[in-house]
Amino acid sequence: MRIVVLAGGIGGARFLRGLKQAAPEADVTVIGNTGDDIHLFGLKVCPDLDTVMYTLGGGINEEQGWGRTDESFRVKEELAAYGVGPEWFGLGDRDFATHIVRTQMLAAGYPLSAVTEALCVRWNPGVRLLPMSDDRVETHVAVEVEGERKVIHFQEYWVKLRASVAAEAVVPVGADQAKPAPGVLEAIASADVIVFPPSNPVVSVGTILAVPGIREAIAEAGVPVVGLSPIIGNAPVRGMADKVLAAVGVEATAAAVAQHYGSGLLDGWLVDTVDAGAVAEVEGAGIRCRAVPLLMTDVDATAEMARQALVLAEEVRA
Ligand code: GDP
Ligand code: CA
Repeated sequence: MRIVVLAGGIGGARFLRGLKQAAPEADVTVIGNTGDDIHLFGLKVCPDLDTVMYTLGGGINEEQGWGRTDESFRVKEELAAYGVGPEWFGLGDRDFATHIVRTQMLAAGYPLSAVTEALCVRWNPGVRLLPMSDDRVETHVAVEVEGERKVIHFQEYWVKLRASVAAEAVVPVGADQAKPAPGVLEAIASADVIVFPPSNPVVSVGTILAVPGIREAIAEAGVPVVGLSPIIGNAPVRGMADKVLAAVGVEATAAAVAQHYGSGLLDGWLVDTVDAGAVAEVEGAGIRCRAVPLLMTDVDATAEMARQALVLAEEVRA
């Protein structure tokens, strides 16, 4: 079975770990969000691709959900001693090596997709990890801080401001000019199932869908497209997804997120058991819906979620 998953960082990566346990024989292609990418200290940092790679490769800081295990911050301290920031973005010493290798390969002329493949040789994630695009896409957020309107990088909004101010707009800068990375459209066209994991619907899955051609390819693939809600009980499980949902005029509920994707894209949707009351509304919108436990408390629980998503896909197919 060929499964394509559109993934952000933590939610996507943890789901993928469960999917691999649930379907060990499946051929999984991950289309990773690169809208969170940022250039820091002259280096190209791809937080979501790295979270997937480290999580599936056994190098992730489990408690934090991002960054390397057994990390130290000597380089960051030395940079700070020179007065060089930003101090609000956590880059550890081990993590720095990834960004140095990536930046060096990009400077030598390799596209991001080839660089990602090379980095994955070390991590052996057991999936094919593709960036959504080799072209530069950067999510920016329009905010008003102390009466002044400005547009800031997504990471500044998310990590520095912790989404403490309202997002007025979320713009994936460059997406409209970006092309899907090599292999992306081919993977979608030959998929048996397409899965939206419990990733952020706006700044993770939404950004991937904003690359021209990807949304259309999914809609035209003619195979089940199923998703799992990142919203449980009218709130994100972790993070501040409600803030970016508000920016696109979508309520932070499992049903509203399903309708945001829409029946033109989504065939099946899993909500958590606490949101069982939303099933009828989602089905009324033409999307088959089931309520099952959706907390990724451990790999076994996550594998069960993945199994339920695949069962739902088969129901849709039939
Ligand atoms: P990011 O790039 O690191 O922000 O990660 P993603 O976009 O992949 O996923 C973030 C989303 O995962 C958030 O909106 C969370 O609500 C959701 N999430 C995190 N843990 C869980 C969980 O255990 N269950 C569900 N259903 N969603 C989760
Ligand atoms: Ca992310």
